[in-house]
Amino acid sequence: MTKVSPTFNYAAFNQLVRTDPLGFGHVAIALGITTTTLLSLVSGRHQPQVKTLMAIYARYPQLALENVPVPLTLSTNTPSETLDPIAQLKADVWEANRRLVEAGLVVLSWGNASGVDRQRGIIAIKPSGVDYAQMKPEDIVLVRLDTGTPLPNEKLNPSSDTPTHLYLYQHFPTIGGIVHTHSSAATSWAQACRSIPCYGTTHADVFHGPVPLSRELTPEEIRDRYEWNTGTAIVDSFQYESINPLHVPGVLVPHHGPFTWGATPQAAVEHAITLEEVAKLAAQTEALKPTADQIPAELLEKHFSRKHGAGAYYGQRK
Ligand SMILES: [Zn+2]
Repeated sequence: MTKVSPTFNYAAFNQLVRTDPLGFGHVAIALGITTTTLLSLVSGRHQPQVKTLMAIYARYPQLALENVPVPLTLSTNTPSETLDPIAQLKADVWEANRRLVEAGLVVLSWGNASGVDRQRGIIAIKPSGVDYAQMKPEDIVLVRLDTGTPLPNEKLNPSSDTPTHLYLYQHFPTIGGIVHTHSSAATSWAQACRSIPCYGTTHADVFHGPVPLSRELTPEEIRDRYEWNTGTAIVDSFQYESINPLHVPGVLVPHHGPFTWGATPQAAVEHAITLEEVAKLAAQTEALKPTADQIPAELLEKHFSRKHGAGAYYGQRK
């Protein structure tokens, strides 16, 4: 069990991170430092950054159970090192992909998350065909926002759905993260080629109206540049119906599945989780009452506006 010691056991910590590569990635992210820096930290005794290591224990209590002693004294000069913006983007996108698996939205490798740095014109996206359990933050692939071409140092291929993400980022300038899954309830609606009616406040809190179904692709669009054209169809549908993508942060692609997005990759994940839940609730609502009414307009506005827009009051004051 947990031992309490006035000194930090670097040897034990070193052993732990070296034998558990995934834990290592988690720890680097928890500390907000690069994996290289973490390696130098744990292998050299010259930088006793006790306070940040305490943060590891707080977030990963299993480390304490691994017989790594908890330090008693706190260093007052905590290092304020942060990741450079691109490494941070990779870390955020890696975390978003992992959360999709944790949330049960991804079977095998049927899903992907991405994020964008608009200032630098770079998209970070899941690599193609890499097992989620083995994936490390550095495996996330960087591609150019204007062309979709991987940056020169990238070794792995980006997700095959990259052209869809690219098209959405180029045409929805307010979004910062995108998620695609084949989560079962949302995909069932997509396969039934139905938009999801807004039956209640769970839905209205996030989606201002029905979750739309994008238009069908033409045979030519399926044959040639299929993934790019999937993006085209989504954007066409939103433009045709004048839908603000931040007010309706998701779509169902007919015979395929859901895409969601948000201001950040984490927001896109939360919208994917909400969409799956909303899809289940709507199916159950229709099973109980096939003629169920959609939410009254006043209630839709009330729930959406208390979380969004100028008069938002849900949650804690920032
Ligand atoms: Zn798909």
